[in-house]
Amino acid sequence: MSAAAEPAGTPTPAEAAETLRLRGIRKTFGSLTALDEVDLDIPRRGTTVLLGPSGSGKSTLLRCINLLEEPDAGEIDFGDGPTRLGGRLGARTVRSIRARSTMVFQQFNLFPHLTALGNVTLAPIHTKGVAKEKAEVRGRELLEKVGLGSKADAYPDRLSGGQQQRVAIARALAMEPDVLLFDEPTSALDPELAAEVVAVLADLAREDRTLVVVTHSLAFAQRVADKVVFLEEGRILLDGPPADFFESEDARLRRFREMVS
Ligand code: ADP
Ligand code: MG
Repeated sequence: MSAAAEPAGTPTPAEAAETLRLRGIRKTFGSLTALDEVDLDIPRRGTTVLLGPSGSGKSTLLRCINLLEEPDAGEIDFGDGPTRLGGRLGARTVRSIRARSTMVFQQFNLFPHLTALGNVTLAPIHTKGVAKEKAEVRGRELLEKVGLGSKADAYPDRLSGGQQQRVAIARALAMEPDVLLFDEPTSALDPELAAEVVAVLADLAREDRTLVVVTHSLAFAQRVADKVVFLEEGRILLDGPPADFFESEDARLRRFREMVS
């Protein structure tokens, strides 16, 4: 069997579980409470869209899932038991939580000195210890998947913003995380380039992956969300199927819908 044809591996306990569970997540910056006791279940193999005004805590919540920010308190559970956050976490615990999710940022954050393929294979080779040849075979498949099969050897400065973001998505997929986190992945792009990225996201959403997407696009939420979560001032105001959000008569939600659409 060739390396590329190898199965993805036996399901981990996390893959078998229903959800990623967050409980009582609190994050303060000085006197500002960015997240105030947030409880949230992220359905596996579904797309959760996080909405909310600027400054409501959406990015902080994503960053807490990945421990780019360490919450002051709370618990995180990827299906194999809760980990209490807020105290001093051991390096192994931090590594294992970080390995569960991968973030795609608004500004792509590609390494400028590496080709598209180099960007996609860097972490699998250096963090996961995947053999270079194997990582490259997989990396080319993933670039193909995001419509960039012919750009493997291109450097980021030769790629459009939409292409760079698609490389960033391939790079995130290469880590095979349980959960993919997207923080306003299209907001730095012109509309036609954003559309390419939305098309890739919609493909991923159809693929039984677990996605959490922060966006201001209600059209995107309407098209792909299985669940909508609305944050305001660090608290969850609504958590439910998209219809709950789109049909809500709550004045704050109506105002938000009118403002962003
Ligand atoms: P959103 O992504 O919904 O716009 P953020 O999660 O970025 O909101 O921010 C939530 C609140 O936390 C805001 O008031 C923001 O100014 C504040 N904040 C976020 N990150 C930091 C930081 N590193 N230092 C201080 N304040 C921060
Ligand atoms: Mg943000």
